[in-house]
Amino acid sequence: MKLYNTATRKLEDFKPLGDVVKIYTCGPTVYSTPHIGNYAAYIYWDLLVRTLIAEGYDVDRVLNLTDVGHLVSDGDEGEDKLEKGAAREGKSVWEIAEHYINIYLGDFRALNLLEPEKICRATDYIEQDKAAVDAMTKNGYTYETSDGIYFDTAKFAGYADFAHLDLEHIKAGARVDFNAEKRNPSDFAVWKFIKPGEKHAMRWDYLGRPGYPGWHLECSTIINAELGEPIDIHTGGIDHIPVHHTNEIAQTYAISGHELAKYWLHCNFINIDGQKISKSLGNVYTLDDLAARGFSPMDYKMWVLQGHYQGDRNFTFDSLEAAKARRLAWKNRIALTYQGDITSSTDISGIVEAVSNNLNSAEAFARVDGAVLSFEDWQNVDALFGLNLINDSPDISDAQKALLSARAEARANKDWQKSDNLRTELEATGITVKDTPTGQIWQYLH
Ligand SMILES: [Zn+2]
Repeated sequence: MKLYNTATRKLEDFKPLGDVVKIYTCGPTVYSTPHIGNYAAYIYWDLLVRTLIAEGYDVDRVLNLTDVGHLVSDGDEGEDKLEKGAAREGKSVWEIAEHYINIYLGDFRALNLLEPEKICRATDYIEQDKAAVDAMTKNGYTYETSDGIYFDTAKFAGYADFAHLDLEHIKAGARVDFNAEKRNPSDFAVWKFIKPGEKHAMRWDYLGRPGYPGWHLECSTIINAELGEPIDIHTGGIDHIPVHHTNEIAQTYAISGHELAKYWLHCNFINIDGQKISKSLGNVYTLDDLAARGFSPMDYKMWVLQGHYQGDRNFTFDSLEAAKARRLAWKNRIALTYQGDITSSTDISGIVEAVSNNLNSAEAFARVDGAVLSFEDWQNVDALFGLNLINDSPDISDAQKALLSARAEARANKDWQKSDNLRTELEATGITVKDTPTGQIWQYLH
């Protein structure tokens, strides 16, 4: 299996560190309904896990849910996202977190994404966060300012390496209003203090005053607690490279002296109609918005997997329509196979091989299109991509079977009017029927 490793900027042969492949995925900040662009990342990483399983690996994956302390900017300024959500909806921050965690996990299931072995809430790791800050301080990596404990990035010699940062350039370009107490522009808070009178509902006592963890910290502490570093694969979006993941690497090194991860995978953003996803453009579509236009989560998953996680993706409703049609065509090929109309089969190893090459599902899909697959092969294809092809098919209901039998009888009696009426009845249930020399064959309409 080959993966493009952001850490080395190379396509590499994947070699696991131990018996089980340890994977960590940076999860969502749970303060609003994720849009379809957010879910693309989880679809790509679902494909990663499914491909590893197809290659015979055991996987132990952890996903975090950021339910505290993530400010609107990647840095340490701006509003807390949870507080922002609470103010918007007139709820407590805890209610906001609970509400959006449920939405996220519901969508996760609707997209048929394999559930990670552990899903961790940041608020369950506050004691570990404090111990981590203690360790970083003891090892000489932090300093205190009036608003928190900061990581001194100048103390970590490799800080700029991961993202190939130009620290001098960052220094020169730092905004004039940048926190004057910070020693370097790239320094970041590992713990924030809550000032007297400041509204921040989520708060924990540490160093004799109320505060909350910096948002980069949870990933380092959760990985340490649940997987143990170094892990095999760390995934995220390309926007995580210069700040969030760079800071995770620095923290883990400062806490334990360990490397955080061997392989780093980052997915690119999705554009919609050639533009960035943004509220002002009115193109922040959710899965519910797609459903209102007649598209299932599986149609969207099909669309995502038609492209590559590192590619420039442009979502349009026309291309989603095409993905939906392709998935329907696959379901109908399975239906034919199930009805015994397809007897020959093709080895699917070429399909697995394509996707093992840095998750090239587009190439794998082209091979599926060109292959003649047995029903068993289709089961393997469905397990590899998680497209619910078989769950939605291949069998029809007893009522549909009864209509088909009645129609066969009508045709045997040359009662063409009745036969046509029964076809219309069948189509109202979502399938149509074709007459072949060997009898009736049903096919899905959608
Ligand atoms: Zn993270």
